[in-house]
Amino acid sequence: MLKDQDRIFTNLYGMHDRTLKGAQARGHWDGTKKLIEMGRAEIVDQMKASGLRGRGGAGFPTGLKWSFMPKESDGRPAYLVVNADESEPGTCKDREIMRHDPHTLIEGCLIASFAMGAHASYIYIRGEYIREREALQMAIDEAYDAGLIGKNACGSGWDFDLYLVHGAGAYICGEETALLESLEGKKGMPRMKPPFPAGAGLYGCPTTVNNVESIAVVPTILRRGADWFASFGRANNAGTKVYAISGHVNNPCVVEDAMSISFEELIETHCGGIRGGWGNLKAVIPGGSSVPCVRGEKMKDAIMDFDALREVGSSLGTAAVIVMDNSTDIIKAIWRLSKFYKHESCGQCTPCREGTGWMMRVMDRLVRGEAEVEEIDMLFDVTKQVEGHTICALGDAAAWPIQGLIRNFRDEIEDRIKAQKTGRVSAVAAE
Ligand code: SF4
Repeated sequence: MLKDQDRIFTNLYGMHDRTLKGAQARGHWDGTKKLIEMGRAEIVDQMKASGLRGRGGAGFPTGLKWSFMPKESDGRPAYLVVNADESEPGTCKDREIMRHDPHTLIEGCLIASFAMGAHASYIYIRGEYIREREALQMAIDEAYDAGLIGKNACGSGWDFDLYLVHGAGAYICGEETALLESLEGKKGMPRMKPPFPAGAGLYGCPTTVNNVESIAVVPTILRRGADWFASFGRANNAGTKVYAISGHVNNPCVVEDAMSISFEELIETHCGGIRGGWGNLKAVIPGGSSVPCVRGEKMKDAIMDFDALREVGSSLGTAAVIVMDNSTDIIKAIWRLSKFYKHESCGQCTPCREGTGWMMRVMDRLVRGEAEVEEIDMLFDVTKQVEGHTICALGDAAAWPIQGLIRNFRDEIEDRIKAQKTGRVSAVAAE
């Protein structure tokens, strides 16, 4: 288990003072000017050495992403955009950072922007996060008043402005290019890539879009050293991580622990175990609603990191762990996710616009068992036609939960169809 002194987020539960005074007492904003004096190249190198991989779901190495930004400006400004549009069902980790430890993010924005030659940064926060926006704005105002950001930020000679922009509550605006469109005041629809944001992002200028947690950990990594951060987790999966555990555990929670911790340890140490014991564990969605579910018995010994979860047919994603015990109607649970993705599709590409609706309607019949067994394969086939054939990853996000269901719980789907045909209605899910 991670020791208290190794936690980056020291106020995740909101038990302490979240104001600037409190944050400084806990070690934030300590020697920020010195960190900036390391210079752009050295900061990027340190981030590479730390092994930090993006915490928003895709797990792309953060330092490498930063290095794609132009070293010399061609006259266009550069921007850092922070993706705080945390809208994935089950994911609620950045929320705790923003409302209880906002100065970690603000200090991170300054340092990361400096490292990428950006004098301005935008934080795009999801529409439903109203209290979080208020807390963050209050912290931004404090930082301005104290001269930590603004002209000559922290006395470093670097001018830096930070803007907080409130979204309107569309899930698709969490996709980085849709987010940029929305920031520009347009409809939140993903752009075709290339060009990638590092070449032409916000207002056609070089832009890096990073997740809240990825940016908020930056100052502590630089203060304590890349080696310290890299000492947690397995190779290629370094660092500490904020996990958000919900569902059928005794104490659902958001907690920071080391990467590569075992699922069993995570649940036993922080969540008081599975409701009704490990024998009652049915399935787990380990990384936010878009990743495939894993059967309980396979999950118990699983390691919580990018590579290990791929080996069990899923993904770490945002590390939002949704635990389901035997009382769960897993077909209905996945149908609900299908409904979500259908609702949130922006509609600009046909496989996603039509496919998400089609998949949801078949899932709806599977919940009631009113289908033919052959349709299970047909549904799987359609998910494959959607996956990888769309402009953005929402198509994949809609396909993967269904694929996970069919791979892991085909027997249950077939049983329900048979039960419906033979009139054994008690085996059919409740409406
Ligand atoms: Fe829009 Fe879906 Fe296409 Fe993404 S995959 S651009 S959400 S239609």
